[in-house]
Amino acid sequence: MEKQPEILQELIRKTRAACPSLWVWDDLESRLNFATDRSGNYALPDAVVLPASEEELSCFLEVAHRYPVPITPQGARTGMSGGGVPVHGGIALSSLRMNRILSIDPENRLVVVEPGVITGTLHRILEKQGIFYPPDPASLDICTIGGNIAEDAGGPRAVKYGVTHDAILGMTVYLSNGERLELGGKIHKNVAGYRLTGLLAGSEGTLGIITRAILRVIPLPETRCLIFAFFRRFRQP
Ligand SMILES: Cc1cc2nc3c(=O)[nH]c(=O)nc-3n(C[C@H](O)[C@H](O)[C@H](O)COP(=O)(O)OP(=O)(O)OC[C@H]3O[C@@H](n4cnc5c(N)ncnc54)[C@H](O)[C@@H]3O)c2cc1C
Repeated sequence: MEKQPEILQELIRKTRAACPSLWVWDDLESRLNFATDRSGNYALPDAVVLPASEEELSCFLEVAHRYPVPITPQGARTGMSGGGVPVHGGIALSSLRMNRILSIDPENRLVVVEPGVITGTLHRILEKQGIFYPPDPASLDICTIGGNIAEDAGGPRAVKYGVTHDAILGMTVYLSNGERLELGGKIHKNVAGYRLTGLLAGSEGTLGIITRAILRVIPLPETRCLIFAFFRRFRQP
């Protein structure tokens, strides 16, 4: 196993000292597990950090931003564009332990979730309560809400309901220097200022780490129907 650069060893040492409850893995087996996604690209991170809360994330960033070490956010690593692959090494920052549904508010038609919630799990929990979260990437049983936002994911329901960015009312984001931003909020008509949630949607982890999302939901439709159409020829408009 190749030796980690001294600067990384120091970062890991200081992180462990400052944030004792934070999971920091630097053994080869763990690093291999977080080295790839479904794009087929591969790059070994020097360490994997798995915060379970904003406090742990913030503690890590407070230490890490003093070091010139790249940080690559990751969800379930089902992405097909390679955004979760730590191409420059450094830290793979996984959201998988930040996986709580923080509130379900049917009256105001919104839910608040952490980024590591599995999309299909959210669907099923909401549907039992007569609530519907439309975005439906085909990977919904294995991908996370954080990854969906960062990829602006969508499936067949996009035709009627839009993609992930259409469902975002607000989010909490940490910049790499540890600054915490609250974008949007628990308001459906929130139109003052720039729509920064739209900037984060599809940003593939390059702008910040999403730690919380306020998502728009609607009543569960009484019936549903999927139509396939076959065309002999397809002409671009
Ligand atoms: C079988 C299969 C079917 C698929 N079907 C679809 C589909 O129908 N529609 C579709 O759009 N995609 C689809 N995908 C692609 C993929 O599932 C989606 O892009 C999904 O949104 C990725 O989520 P993830 O949790 O796996 O994120 P990851 O792959 O881990 O990460 C994706 C991107 O999000 C960033 N990221 C992850 N978490 C955070 C966070 N907390 N903060 C900031 N950035 C973060 C990463 O840096 C990376 O750039 C499919 C993939 C597979 C394997």
